[in-house]
Amino acid sequence: MTTIANNLQQVMGRIAQACQAAGRDPAQVGLLAVSKTFGADAVLEAVAAGQHAFGENYIQEGVDKIAAVRAALPDVALQWHCIGPIQSNKTRLVAEHFDWVHTVDRLKIAERLSAQRPDHLSPLQICIQVNIDGGPTKSGVAPAEALDLVRAVAKLPRLVVRGLMSIPDHAPELEAQLAIHTSARRLFDQISAVGEPGLGQFDTLSLGMTADLEAAIQAGSTLVRVGTGIFGGRTYPAA
Ligand SMILES: *Cc1c(COP(=O)(O)O)cnc(C)c1O
Repeated sequence: MTTIANNLQQVMGRIAQACQAAGRDPAQVGLLAVSKTFGADAVLEAVAAGQHAFGENYIQEGVDKIAAVRAALPDVALQWHCIGPIQSNKTRLVAEHFDWVHTVDRLKIAERLSAQRPDHLSPLQICIQVNIDGGPTKSGVAPAEALDLVRAVAKLPRLVVRGLMSIPDHAPELEAQLAIHTSARRLFDQISAVGEPGLGQFDTLSLGMTADLEAAIQAGSTLVRVGTGIFGGRTYPAA
């Protein structure tokens, strides 16, 4: 078994155990393999081990990798999620190449993604990024403004609003991780309870990474985003 296949198996084991501890069905928790900084070869290895959903942070890197993987596996359907910050001048690439976007925190970006989504592709699946722990310089909409943004995005014709995503600051203790993920869960429940047209598929809570997936699953995450635990440590290219 390759290292990636072995790592994937371990991560799946952690997810299963966390679900059992939380009394949740493991079928309710998806795994997004975060392949940023790793090459198409690493993705192909993960696909061979059964993984089908991948997350990318850097738009151009992601687009190049999607093309390389598609060329190698033209008949395999994979899901590509954009989980990095999106500048206005990159919305077209995202709309043309990705299936999901987790990082919408402004209406202007959502409007561009909707307008630029090609007709031959199914609607882009959107999570609204929430700045749940409130740092003033962090990405994400303020929790108090999340519902308004969800409603506005739900009206855009080529987007489907699927849920919320957050990237809290790293907390070493399980209790602190759980507290912050639980605030995201509460906001998700409040918005779900509104139940208006356009929110019929509001079912995704994208929470948790390698270091805190247990707390995220206990809090109610439906999609954990794991990079290091699958692909190993990252080396960032010098700027
Ligand atoms: C890099 C990244 C991850 C994966 O982080 P790991 O700690 O390597 O699991 C998850 N989500 C986002 C938004 C990221 O940028």
